Amino acid sequence: MKLQKKTLKLLIFDADETLWTFPNAQHLVWASVTHPPYVIKGKDLLVDSKGIQIKLLPYANETIDMAKKLGFELSMASNNDFHSAQAILEHFGLFDKFKYPQIDWQSKDLQIKNIYEAFGLEPSKAQQQRTIFVDDKIKNINAVKKRFPHLITIHLREKTLKPVYNLLKDKFSEYK
Ligand SMILES: [Mg+2]
Repeated sequence: MKLQKKTLKLLIFDADETLWTFPNAQHLVWASVTHPPYVIKGKDLLVDSKGIQIKLLPYANETIDMAKKLGFELSMASNNDFHSAQAILEHFGLFDKFKYPQIDWQSKDLQIKNIYEAFGLEPSKAQQQRTIFVDDKIKNINAVKKRFPHLITIHLREKTLKPVYNLLKDKFSEYK
């Protein structure tokens, strides 16, 4: 009998402006501009010591819960300072939900290659077709598509994760 190669359903998030956002444009890009300690105000809002707000995008918690329910593994590909991003994720109670998060300054396609390796997965066509990558920047989407052309990418144009939630609900509910 031929052994089947392992595949997993993987959902990989960018962080800044994909999982969370900052309402003030000068603080939009790097979580490292924030000033710990953070105070959590409800399940989707953090405030740092200078009053900068970090908000989860609408549908973040719902999307994560839906993905787990459907048997997805979650990971992260973020260009960020690791400890800042970790602190934010921990305050939202999300850090432990992401396996092998890649939070550094490598390109997103390399980060996804690293995620596959960490999970022990071949980047086969079948595996790519079970991998969703979400990012707000088209250049990241394009870099990932170039290396992994069969991967499902979602370019977030609106500040909501509803498109990801809908994709999971509509296309993956029956998908093993
Ligand atoms: Mg981003």
